[in-house]
Amino acid sequence: MTKQTKACTKCGKKQPLSEFSRDARSKDHCQSACKACGREYAKSENGKKAMAKYLESEKGRKAVARYQKSEKFKKTRAEYRKTEKYKKAQAKHAKSEKCKKTTAEYAKSKKGKQVRAKAIAKYRKTEKGKQTMARYARAERGKQTMARHRKKRKMQKDQT
Ligand SMILES: [Zn+2]
Repeated sequence: MTKQTKACTKCGKKQPLSEFSRDARSKDHCQSACKACGREYAKSENGKKAMAKYLESEKGRKAVARYQKSEKFKKTRAEYRKTEKYKKAQAKHAKSEKCKKTTAEYAKSKKGKQVRAKAIAKYRKTEKGKQTMARYARAERGKQTMARHRKKRKMQKDQT
């Protein structure tokens, strides 16, 4: 078996085809630049811009959606979420203004309200949820909330 090689159009080095990313559109099904050059490009300003533009495009969005449904992605994400790096990034993000804004906006949105209502309904059916509700109803704050709700309902009744 002969090992096929080709020259990278960027760095000019002759390398085995395994050093080139796959590209179904090209003749030899490999990209013209080698993986190392591809990584360099991805890190560059131009590369980042091109990637951002691609991700915003219809094609890019479809590719991302397809990838996010794949088993590979789910596995990768599950693995990533176990790492310290993710936990740190998540904690940092949760404290950021951007996250607060996104969360607040989402909570106000129709979808956000639906998701929340569903989650609460589901939680209330669990043992833990029932206990929390019971504990809350006995607590001072819970009594106040309940009283406020009753008052509000009464007011609405009186109005009609
Ligand atoms: Zn190269």
